[in-house]
Amino acid sequence: MAKCAVIFCERERTWIWQPAGPSEQTLCFVVPGSHYRGFAAIPLCEECKQAVERGIEKVIVYHGTTYRYCAQEGEVKTILNA
Ligand SMILES: [Zn+2]
Repeated sequence: MAKCAVIFCERERTWIWQPAGPSEQTLCFVVPGSHYRGFAAIPLCEECKQAVERGIEKVIVYHGTTYRYCAQEGEVKTILNA
């Protein structure tokens, strides 16, 4: 069972977030299994997806790298390399 990538969130992923393409929209979400290969695919639960959409800052761990994301800033930023 794949979990949400938001730090300290233990819920199951229900969305794949693809902030870095191929869509030009940073708020691009698809269902698991139908994401675009070759682009970052960050698993999120429903609650964290909605928080990201509302511009609430989230800290996400993806492939060993920690990112801070705020939709109002419109981009994913690396804040710490693990
Ligand atoms: Zn979550």
